[in-house]
Amino acid sequence: MQATICVMPGDGIGPEIVSQALLVLGKAAAKFGHEFTKVDALIGGAAIDACGVPLPEDTARAAAASDAALLGAVGGPKWDAIDPAIRPEKGLLAIRKHLGLFANLRPAALFDELKSACCLRPDIVGAGLDVLVVRELTGGAYFGEPRGIETRGGEKVGFNTMIYSESEVRRIAKVGFEAARKRRGKLCSVDKANVLDVSRLWREVVVAVAGDYPDVELSHMYVDNAAMQLVRNPSQFDVIVTENLFGDILSDEAAVITGSIGMLPSASLGEKNPGLYEPIHGSAPDIAGTDAANPLATILSVAMMLRYSFALETEARCIEDAVSKALSQGYRTGDIMEPGKTKLGCKAMGEIVAGLI
Ligand code: NAD
Repeated sequence: MQATICVMPGDGIGPEIVSQALLVLGKAAAKFGHEFTKVDALIGGAAIDACGVPLPEDTARAAAASDAALLGAVGGPKWDAIDPAIRPEKGLLAIRKHLGLFANLRPAALFDELKSACCLRPDIVGAGLDVLVVRELTGGAYFGEPRGIETRGGEKVGFNTMIYSESEVRRIAKVGFEAARKRRGKLCSVDKANVLDVSRLWREVVVAVAGDYPDVELSHMYVDNAAMQLVRNPSQFDVIVTENLFGDILSDEAAVITGSIGMLPSASLGEKNPGLYEPIHGSAPDIAGTDAANPLATILSVAMMLRYSFALETEARCIEDAVSKALSQGYRTGDIMEPGKTKLGCKAMGEIVAGLI
């Protein structure tokens, strides 16, 4: 296949990790006979320095015109003191909005080789940990109206509105079911239907959508129980689909269990391409420019791109297997280093993975 990828390295370790991810993508493309054309674009602090804004129009246009977008990370101390309206992180929010990305997919998988980094007891993670959290990204309490702080009865009150329309629930539920279909066929919808009306509607719509996915096993769980089950018995989950606020918390919880921030990819999807793929970590200014960053989260983000934007499952698996093999052969970056393993820099790790494609 032929596709155009908008590449936004961003700041800090962004350029280092993105170039290794592109090296691996290039190897996979050559192996399977695909042609990916790369369009470079500025975002975050790099864009502020060059154009005065964190998301220049050229970048927004290039990303929208591409088939998928790859982002490194944005931000850093250099831009901490500038006008909050044009901070680097605003570029991230703006590109998500510009591309209409309403679904955030965050896999939290524990590689066998990294079990010692996991913060749960070995008997708990013994059955494996491979959860995908599908979080609704543009609705719920973070965006609902009315919202604000006002004075009522002589004291201040603060309020937000957790609101979802049927169509908003339907489209995120579909993403959850489709993702479960590509995995182990189990979807757990997380809500608070015992207390919240908005959750009752959520559940009703999810159950209706399930009619189109008889091959996917649907279950429901209250969010408080889900938070507990993630640490008590995470192997029971395949895909979790949930609303924005619950997903914000549960996806971080699922991620931290794996113990290695440098290993976790993400995808943000809209109704159609381009989806946006990026590691979940930030720009790590403390190690930027030292070749110490772990490029695996970004490499795994490219695997997600192949799976979710281009339906290239074999190619995605090939990249994930190469990462697994690099780990089982004992290669580690500093953040996941253990005694007896071979410590590599960012570039060398990228080259090892590319060599294993
Ligand atoms: P961070 O994720 O950048 O770093 C946290 C810690 O993890 C640091 O010690 C860092 O060295 C380490 N780390 C992160 N990624 C790593 C990797 N790939 N390999 C090895 N070690 C890694 O979070 P932070 O320090 O809170 O934020 C730094 C900057 O990044 C801030 O400006 C913040 O706003 C921004 N940020 C951006 C994003 C994004 O672009 N999506 C996300 C989070 C934070």
